[in-house]
Amino acid sequence: MGATVEAQVVVVGAGPVGLMLAGELRLGGVDVVLLERLPAPTTESRASTLHARTMEIFDQRGLLDALGPVPNDMRGHFGGIGLDFGGLDSRYPGLWKVPQARTERLLGDWATGLGAVVLRGHELVGLRQTESGVEVDAVGPEGAVRIRAAYLVGCDGEGSTVRRLAGFPFPGADATRELLRADVAGIDVPDRRFERHERGLAIAHRRPDGVTRVMVHEFGADAAPRTGDPEFAEVAATWARVTGEDIGAGEPIWLNAFGNARRLAERYRLGRVLLAGDAAHAQMPVGGQALNLGLQDAVNLGWKLAARMRGWAPPGLLDTYHDERHAVGSRVLGNIEAQATLLLGGPEVEPLRGVMAELFGHDEVVGRLAGMVSGLDVRYADDGAVPLLGSRVPHWELTTEDGPSSTTELLRTGHGVLLDLTAGLPPGTAAAWADRVRTVSAEGDTDVRAVLLRPDGHVAWVDDGTADPHAALQRWFGAPNP
Ligand SMILES: Cc1cc2nc3c(=O)[nH]c(=O)nc-3n(C[C@H](O)[C@H](O)[C@H](O)COP(=O)(O)OP(=O)(O)OC[C@H]3O[C@@H](n4cnc5c(N)ncnc54)[C@H](O)[C@@H]3O)c2cc1C
Repeated sequence: MGATVEAQVVVVGAGPVGLMLAGELRLGGVDVVLLERLPAPTTESRASTLHARTMEIFDQRGLLDALGPVPNDMRGHFGGIGLDFGGLDSRYPGLWKVPQARTERLLGDWATGLGAVVLRGHELVGLRQTESGVEVDAVGPEGAVRIRAAYLVGCDGEGSTVRRLAGFPFPGADATRELLRADVAGIDVPDRRFERHERGLAIAHRRPDGVTRVMVHEFGADAAPRTGDPEFAEVAATWARVTGEDIGAGEPIWLNAFGNARRLAERYRLGRVLLAGDAAHAQMPVGGQALNLGLQDAVNLGWKLAARMRGWAPPGLLDTYHDERHAVGSRVLGNIEAQATLLLGGPEVEPLRGVMAELFGHDEVVGRLAGMVSGLDVRYADDGAVPLLGSRVPHWELTTEDGPSSTTELLRTGHGVLLDLTAGLPPGTAAAWADRVRTVSAEGDTDVRAVLLRPDGHVAWVDDGTADPHAALQRWFGAPNP
């Protein structure tokens, strides 16, 4: 046996979700080692959209300066029917166009800057759970490596080895329809947003570097059983049948096919092993939700697992990760399936598309759907009576005794925040949780008297006039210090 590495948490997969989780764990003060089988970050062109909630989260962690300027488009779609994202109640309405490689670089710099250790060129090949931890076998450039940790999180993507080795059931359905996609140089076809032809759907977008991304689906065609990427000849022939245009003389740069398969892990946690991102849910990347969903899994899990490792997690806190994120995953998979039907259905879905297009003329419908796709409408609470409870806290500008601040800025350290907006809380209310929860008195442009914020920015308690957050403090931040 080769080297042995010890860590509090081992994360498998340094994709966007693994890197986000590693940064969150480091903010929570936990040692983390990431295993990544690729020797260097991939430059593959994959997800290209960050939604409003992800941008808020990046701001909440102070990452937007490093991200730099990002093109922003208010025009999105739902199942290929145009949808305006400009009305979202956020500092970041619309869709933000960031190539996935840039997001990964940002998160990689952040996580390693905070002290996360990334072992590149290391592939996980075995794992065992014991009463006190997990033992992982990996193969690295210098041979076998064994890693011992208290917890393991599989962020190793759709074909997750962790999911298979740990025995997570992954029910769902295989693809019945697919979109073929190719980045092609040397072709000249008109730009098209979701153009429906008699025989199929065609999408084309020419990038500034002259490469055109084409996507095509032939109505009624079954998804092919695939073991690799499609040949360019297949994409060109389908394109010709749907549009009548010949792109066969172009030079293919990247080819891929993605179908409407959907699967959701039955549990996100089995003992000391957890799943996040594509390892927990497989979905068609329609509407650019897959990556955003995974990043938000990581932000939900990070502080809870850190709390467990630091010893202050109240009973059941770690299981709220499954409860909250499985429900969100299930809902997102539902909206993706609805979109796939509208997008890839043939003439039989035209009446449905007509009705939907008519509904999209109503602001309330647009707001509802944009809120769903952008992740802003996620609520971790059953109590409908207090609208803010469980929602993400809005960005409120604040005046504190230390000067101007905001709810976004107060979350940067990754602590909980008890925010008193009326000086109504008895002094020392959260003193016994001071190592986990910062108390801040401020004035802000809101009617809310006081809120307790979780480290992920969701509201754990809203002052209903009794000014007593103790039950919420214990529920989310554990037992008070003596
Ligand atoms: C071809 C393609 C196109 C896509 N297009 C879009 C899009 O347009 N829009 C969108 O929103 N989403 C898209 N997606 C989905 C999006 O890229 C994913 O949702 C996102 O990458 C998920 O991040 P992740 O970190 O969960 O997993 P991944 O990004 O898959 O990262 C998993 C990491 O784990 C590593 N790994 C795997 N197994 C092991 C192992 N045994 N040991 C060590 N390391 C391991 C992998 O090398 C990888 O780096 C696309 C995905 C693919 C594959």
